[in-house]
Amino acid sequence: MGKSILIVEDEPKIAGLLEDYLRTQGGFHTLSVARGDQAVAIFRDESPDLILLDLMLPGLDGIEVCKQIRAESDVPIIMVTARVEEIDRLLGLELGADDYICKPFSPREVVARVKAVLRRAEIAYQKPDQEGLEIDSDRFTAKYGGKTLPLTPVEFALLKSLAAYPGRVFSRDQLMNEMYSDYRVVSDRAVDTHIKNLRKKLNQSSGGKDMIESVYGLGYRFEP
Ligand code: CA
Repeated sequence: MGKSILIVEDEPKIAGLLEDYLRTQGGFHTLSVARGDQAVAIFRDESPDLILLDLMLPGLDGIEVCKQIRAESDVPIIMVTARVEEIDRLLGLELGADDYICKPFSPREVVARVKAVLRRAEIAYQKPDQEGLEIDSDRFTAKYGGKTLPLTPVEFALLKSLAAYPGRVFSRDQLMNEMYSDYRVVSDRAVDTHIKNLRKKLNQSSGGKDMIESVYGLGYRFEP
């Protein structure tokens, strides 16, 4: 049976276009709602497999809708924004959205992104142990395939944050806050360097499998 997508979008033309493409090109069931203040109730009633959520909505904006749904569910959410600059701000709010799409978009791209997010959600669901990665938060140690990873405290903090939400994009700012509890300011380059070292250690233990993916212009995500 096809998966169902809830579209929260107040522009009827865009909602119609999305429904059309997701049905015909993606084989999905679709459902749309134009008001933010109705979205959460519809989500509860219909339990869709994924939500495409516009940012600017009447009633309740996309940020609030995302927060309310996240408070009760891990359902994949793709946020749709009108401005590319908005994405940085949204990442900073740590809403826990799985991906971001900027308007104007091609319907084909939306279908591809929806499929990718669903695929990742499925992998994360099927493999709760993330294929042999074990994180011990009490001892601040991590193992891969039974072997202890020689991580620094900062690398451990990064891995723990990324691996907690496989497939979710983390901005460098978010990772910085995870790296140091005292909120000290470090450069983006410092984050990149720690990620590079963490990657190298993970690769060595996993036989070359790259588990941390760079997302151009946004940050990083963990792909088990
Ligand atoms: Ca809108």
